[in-house]
Amino acid sequence: MNILMIGAHPDDCDLRCSGLAALYARDGHRVKFLSMCDGSGGHHVMNRNEIAARRWGETQEAAKVIGIEYDVWNVADCEIVCDLPTRARLVNYIRRFQPDVIFCHRTNDYHADHRASGLLVQDASYLLIVPNYCPETPAMKKMPVILFFYDSFKNPPFVPDLVIGIDEVVEDKFRMIDKHVSQVYEWLPYTGGTLGEVPADPAARFEWLHGDKVTADTTDEEVLKKKGYSRRFALAAALYRDKLIERYGEEKGRRIRFAEAYAVSEYGSQLTAESAARLFPY
Ligand SMILES: [Zn+2]
Repeated sequence: MNILMIGAHPDDCDLRCSGLAALYARDGHRVKFLSMCDGSGGHHVMNRNEIAARRWGETQEAAKVIGIEYDVWNVADCEIVCDLPTRARLVNYIRRFQPDVIFCHRTNDYHADHRASGLLVQDASYLLIVPNYCPETPAMKKMPVILFFYDSFKNPPFVPDLVIGIDEVVEDKFRMIDKHVSQVYEWLPYTGGTLGEVPADPAARFEWLHGDKVTADTTDEEVLKKKGYSRRFALAAALYRDKLIERYGEEKGRRIRFAEAYAVSEYGSQLTAESAARLFPY
């Protein structure tokens, strides 16, 4: 299968869906991440050109961890908009890759780039099969299934259709995020006021990246009180435990610590029991 995961910035897919990406890649499917913006806004010391080049390099290092492709568009950070040229660019891009499934942001996320990139995917969805739109690239025969990444925004609430356990690949996810050095060890701690806490030694900072430990014995209520990326990746398992039990059975469903949750967009192909089992065999 061809799996296309679209985020606004060069770390969004890593943070939100790289566990599932690692499972697909492990099984030989072709996975591509796209960052619609170049990430050039995200630094407090480096200028736009310097940080864009560095962040592109970080995406390529992250992609190598699980053996996927990672594209970054030449759109300035904080400047992706839903205009006609960008819609056409996206339709052509998606048609060339012929994905079975597309993942993207919801359109009520806090960041304008996240909202715009999610809306661009929704706006592109039906046009993928319209031959007279962007005739330079052959139209697809069928719309892909489109899924939204989990986010914590409440209005409207996120309602998951699919919750996938990622315990077996969660360290791959950490290793991918570890490659985004300029973000997770520099810019985000800078904006969060925790830059002074980041260890200089790579092994120590990788440990720091994990944050508070989450084990099989951590209760769901305890997960919610913890800090750091372990907590973040455990959140979907904690919030949607019932979905995990439904999917994996009582025993395994209760043991899963890390999960990713997804909601189906109404604008792509709709899931049937057969297509859900085929597209998400995890
Ligand atoms: Zn982002």
